[in-house]
Parts: sequence; C-alpha cells; structure tokens
Amino acid sequence: MPRDSKLAQKDCIFCKIAAGQIPCIKIYEDKNILAFLDIGPVSDGHTLIVPKEHYTKVEDSKPEVLSAVAAVLPKITAAVAAATGADGYNVLCNNGRAAGQLVEHLHFHIIPRKTGDGVFNHWPAFKYPQGKAEKIAEAIRAKL
Ligand code: AMP
Ligand code: ZN
Repeated sequence: MPRDSKLAQKDCIFCKIAAGQIPCIKIYEDKNILAFLDIGPVSDGHTLIVPKEHYTKVEDSKPEVLSAVAAVLPKITAAVAAATGADGYNVLCNNGRAAGQLVEHLHFHIIPRKTGDGVFNHWPAFKYPQGKAEKIAEAIRAKL
C-alpha cells in the first residue's frame, strides 16, 4: 500500500463525507471516527462506522485506527440496537470486491436484526476433507 494511502482520496465518497463536503445523517463523531446511517439500509438503523483517514482494507490500516473503531463499537452498537428494538445485530466489514466491498474506504456496518427477519440466512458452511484444515492453517501461519 502506498505511504499516502491514509490521506484523503480525491474521489472517495467517505473521505468527502468525513470532510463535510457531502452530507450524511450523523450518529457519532470524534477526532478519528464518523458514524452515520447507511443510505441503502438493509434494516432500520443500519449504521456505518468509518475512520476519517482513508484506508482501503483492514490489512492496510494502522492498528491505532482499528483501535479507534474498537473504542466506539460497544457504545454505538448498544445505541443502535436499543433505538431500533433489535434482538441482535451484525458487525460486518467487507474487504475487497470479492467480499462485496463497493466503497473502497474502510468501514464497518452495524446491521440491527430482528428474530426471523430473513435479512441474512446462514452462509453455506462445509466440512474440510481430512488434512486440509491443517495445511491451510500452516499456510496462514507462514504468512504472519
Ligand atoms: P460496502 O459494500 O461494504 O462497500 O458498503 C458500502 C455501503 O455504503 C453501502 O451499504 C451503501 O449503501 C453505503 N453508502 C454509499 N454511499 C453512501 C452515502 N453517501 N451515505 C451513506 N451510505 C452510503
Ligand atoms: Zn476515503
């Protein structure tokens, strides 16, 4: 990742929102973080938590930026859930096109859920064939 990746990106919609150049329905703001309602919600109260600095993915982000997100996550998730009467919520972070990331500025979705709402169903879990999990774990550890 280039060194200037954290600088505001000229054509990034979330950088523009963070800079106040594009409006949003704001939930929370501090020095590092902005939280606002998603313009295309999948449930009432669907909120985005966005670091003000531009990073594309989790792996590009400074630990301090992720810490700033983590620091506000409990109070924002609690408020969103309480205000919407949610039975639960998903915290989602799509990384890369293949994972459904459309806006290439790191963000975390908080999606309030009601029992039986059908917003997401269970994902297609499978079982590893014999020996495959160990091989994959070894490959991941080798990249740490
Ligand atoms: P993702 O697919 O994880 O990149 O999600 C991007 C999200 O940003 C989508 O849920 C969009 O509805 C939302 N979004 C895009 N533009 C805006 C905007 N101007 N204000 C609020 N949310 C937005
Ligand atoms: Zn950006």
